[in-house]
Amino acid sequence: MSDIENNWFREVQNDLWPGQSFSLKIKKKLHEENSKYQNIKIFETETYGTCLALDNIIQCTSRDEFSYQEMISFLPLCIHQKPQKVLIVGGGDGGVAREVAKHPLVEEIHQVEIDDRVVELSKQYLPNMACGFKSPKLKLTIGDGFEYMKAHENTFDVIITDSSDPIGPAISLFQENYYKLMKTALRPNGIVCAQGGSFWLDSENIKNTMKNSSKYFKTVKYAVTSVPSYPCGHIGFVIASDEDNVNFISPVQKYNSSELDLMGLKYYTSNVHSSAFALPRWIEKYLYE
Ligand code: SAM
Repeated sequence: MSDIENNWFREVQNDLWPGQSFSLKIKKKLHEENSKYQNIKIFETETYGTCLALDNIIQCTSRDEFSYQEMISFLPLCIHQKPQKVLIVGGGDGGVAREVAKHPLVEEIHQVEIDDRVVELSKQYLPNMACGFKSPKLKLTIGDGFEYMKAHENTFDVIITDSSDPIGPAISLFQENYYKLMKTALRPNGIVCAQGGSFWLDSENIKNTMKNSSKYFKTVKYAVTSVPSYPCGHIGFVIASDEDNVNFISPVQKYNSSELDLMGLKYYTSNVHSSAFALPRWIEKYLYE
């Protein structure tokens, strides 16, 4: 394990976050291999539970993953009037499938993940996330999300892109053409939601992604959630609709505390939903003016 020294994993990534790195103390190394697409590491940490890293970038830890998985799923699902048919692109740990399956209006979940080894290893080492693959609503396809999108038209109500960062196999999922394809793959009034990076690190990329997506979608917003094991401690989502002036801030479906308990949600509430769109002044001006 090259990015591991003295039992510390260091998330060094000179292109995406030069000059900084988050570190986790390792309790036990569980697995490492090079799949056809990427280096996969899984280890038990001292304080963050089990961690999955792809090409030395942390994808999730069992301590804080629910913040990301619940928010990338429930933000778009609760904005849509009737999210019956959902597509997940990426999401090889199964966490997003687990969350989407909880939503009472969702009938069918289709997922396309490029790397079957991430899926298999998550089933082995991250069972609390990979339980998403057991949902009877789910149909998993192993393949490239970009190519999959080309083959679908007028099919999905919501598309969630739970990709790794824009290096390696995920590069195509951040391109303008991908938004064009997603627009075609959506049914009328569809919503897309994609992992969009952190505004402290990626403001220029976020702005570009939003600019590209607004060529095909009429309402485009950026929302954030707190995830301590991601660089800068938080991550954002680019959310878009082909309808004009959709009010993303106020969810169409609202769930009370006992309903959220029944679904097993720990992070998402309607208030958290609304506040996710509130941005600090400088980044709001930069992204929207
Ligand atoms: N929550 C994570 C994050 O923000 O870093 C992402 C987690 S999930 C493990 C990311 C998945 O996207 C990986 O399993 C990776 O194999 C998959 N992926 C990357 N590029 C892809 C592509 N072109 N098509 C489908 N899946 C892709």
